[in-house]
Amino acid sequence: MPGAIDDFSTLVSIKTPDDLLQRPLYHERINITQSKLAEVLAPYRFKDPYPCGISDCRTLHQRGFLVRTEDDKETNIGKDCGVSYFGQDFKIKAYLQEQRATLKAQIDVLDGVRHRQPELMHRIADLFNRPFGVKWAESTLRGFKDAVGHVIYRQVRDRAARSEVVVESTREATAEERQRQQALRGKSK
Ligand SMILES: [Zn+2]
Repeated sequence: MPGAIDDFSTLVSIKTPDDLLQRPLYHERINITQSKLAEVLAPYRFKDPYPCGISDCRTLHQRGFLVRTEDDKETNIGKDCGVSYFGQDFKIKAYLQEQRATLKAQIDVLDGVRHRQPELMHRIADLFNRPFGVKWAESTLRGFKDAVGHVIYRQVRDRAARSEVVVESTREATAEERQRQQALRGKSK
């Protein structure tokens, strides 16, 4: 009976045909009519089509599985061949090994990020606190919003989002606007 989904002990990583060829028990073609399936070792997905290891088949495929037979031979087979030669046993083992490979890949990604956590936290803190960083931008934006009011703020923000930052016309500030600006300058002192 196949083991639990988080048991990676039988899982190997196959990325290229070379990874197959370097395995000591690997056979490029075997006659497996009398062989029984021992393990599905790994799913793989190759960039270029690669022949099935069953000597009567040799069908080119990109997605398949590395398998080991009970007489200790390894070869690679497509999914359809797996099912027609080894039946339900292959279906279950291949499914489990595919789930394990997916889970393992996700764990590896998380591990990679976890190792970089101190560095990432440091960068975030730096971006936040540095001169003209996030903290400065937020308080400047707040001040700007207070000074110009919601309507103009929204218009400017939308233009900035569309990268329309060219000033097309200018005019003198009204008395009210000057007052608001002065009040703000006083506040920020
Ligand atoms: Zn085949």
